[in-house]
Amino acid sequence: MFGRAPKKSDNTRYYEILGVSKNASQDDLKKAYKKAAIKNHPDKGGDPEKFKELAQAYEVLSDPEKREIYDQYGEDALKEGMGGGGGGHDPFDIFQSFFGGSPFGGGSSRGRRQRRGEDVVHPLKVSLEDLYLGTSKKLSLSRSVLCSKCNGKGSKSGASMKCAGCQGTGMKVSIRHLGPSMIQQMQHPCNECKGTGETINDRDRCPQCKGEKVVQEKKVLEVIVEKGMQNGQKITFPGEADEAPDTITGDIVFVLQQKEHPKFRRKGEDLFVEHTLSLTEALCGFQFVLTHLDGRQLLIKSNPGEVVKPDAYKAINDEGMPMYQRPFMKGKLYIHFTVDFPDSLSPDQVKALEAVLPARPSSKLTDMELDECEETTLHDVNIEEEMRRKQQAQQEAYDEDEDMHGGAQRVQCAQQ
Ligand SMILES: [Zn+2]
Ligand SMILES: [Zn+2]
Repeated sequence: MFGRAPKKSDNTRYYEILGVSKNASQDDLKKAYKKAAIKNHPDKGGDPEKFKELAQAYEVLSDPEKREIYDQYGEDALKEGMGGGGGGHDPFDIFQSFFGGSPFGGGSSRGRRQRRGEDVVHPLKVSLEDLYLGTSKKLSLSRSVLCSKCNGKGSKSGASMKCAGCQGTGMKVSIRHLGPSMIQQMQHPCNECKGTGETINDRDRCPQCKGEKVVQEKKVLEVIVEKGMQNGQKITFPGEADEAPDTITGDIVFVLQQKEHPKFRRKGEDLFVEHTLSLTEALCGFQFVLTHLDGRQLLIKSNPGEVVKPDAYKAINDEGMPMYQRPFMKGKLYIHFTVDFPDSLSPDQVKALEAVLPARPSSKLTDMELDECEETTLHDVNIEEEMRRKQQAQQEAYDEDEDMHGGAQRVQCAQQ
């Protein structure tokens, strides 16, 4: 994205919009505009604002006089000269004039806007390692392309006849009488020409595509998965989907799907890893080796005398995921610690521990006070399980209640 509010004498923005250098030749400009305008054409799902900007930038820079004013005095000077405001022409006209009638190849253009072909979307499974290291995957796809022998005309002579069924409109209208003074008109694609409005003489049929205008082609696409790309990120090959006559070819879009990793979880540019410590490690220190996504062995160790508490997190800077398009910057690697407590201790162990651990909180109960207390027993529980069961029982009781009384209440409400 480019800055919306140009500085007072901004004279670089148009170059940036087209992605060319300041000394770009007319040829460079043409190429840059052509590429960007096709990619950003609103009919192809592009941003209309961007498309307009491109046309504006191209209109100025392709005119030597305007370009000179722009280079010397910037955008504002030009706007004043052009009579204030946005000025300029309809971006679609510029686009059209540039491409001279038929911007996307193929036959005659009926009307200014062409039908846009469907995008083809493929999921692409990648591992977390792929997203960490970057990779490229070659994929072989079958696609329709305009027949080279007949240039997508379907006939040897290049001629086609108007379909008799629809007079070349591609559509048929049927009329239904709904009543004495009411009719309904329904439009549907012509069945004789499949909505193309043309038929081809049997003898004139192109031998290569049999009059279908397109043939199947195998194409190998190399998908570059860049370092730091995200799950769900799209990689687009503009105009590589199925070709069809008089149609702007859609895009092939790969959507990255990250396979779950057995060890690492990713959140944005950070990585998370689980690690379980024994109680001894948590209290007396630990060290272990963690193999990173690129195979490096990280030695992870506690600071001397440090105690790690259950559920604690520690972070290692710059060992997270590389940032997309800034792969030298990396997020953090978080380690989540679980501490494995022993289930029980022998009396000797208790004695030994009491000797080294801080003293218990003093609770001097007299015998008399103890006599007044009631004995209790502590049971083991799985608290989550128990809470779930209780909630379920409550829900069932509520549902039953609803069945018995709810119906009557609802009738009452409806009557009010
Ligand atoms: Zn027809
Ligand atoms: Zn053909």
